[in-house]
Amino acid sequence: MKVAKDSVVRFDYVLKNDGGDVIDSSDGEPLAYIHGHGQIVPGLERAMGGKAAGDRFDVRIAPADGYGERDDDAIFKIPRSRLPKDLSPKVGQELASRTPDGGVMRFRLVEVTEESVTADANHPLAGESLNFSVSVVEVRSATTEELEHGHAHGAGWAH
Ligand code: ZN
Repeated sequence: MKVAKDSVVRFDYVLKNDGGDVIDSSDGEPLAYIHGHGQIVPGLERAMGGKAAGDRFDVRIAPADGYGERDDDAIFKIPRSRLPKDLSPKVGQELASRTPDGGVMRFRLVEVTEESVTADANHPLAGESLNFSVSVVEVRSATTEELEHGHAHGAGWAH
């Protein structure tokens, strides 16, 4: 069958940046998702439409259809006095904080001074074009349970 809305798709992938560096890969453990629900980046989901098990393809995805453009408003300073006292902030450190609506915001520290730290909440791949090499392993219809849960079940999934 071909990939359509509510298909469960399992696929292997290698993701490279425009410089040819491997940023991520499924590394022999195919990723599973339910098609048509925004569970993978929009450009890759679009490219998956109509594919079948055994298909291999390469696709280059612009930032807007990937992890978004970089947003300068997502870079902000935090006074050291507002950081946990036991934290020794370092450039490159990844932190998370609760947002007022109960969500979690993740950010990386990009600058540390005596008075403050500068945090960047952009996705690490924001502003990057994504070069995927994809190999489709399996395409099947999602079960009712999977659709209710909003995720694919199968090897490696634990509730
Ligand atoms: Zn489930």
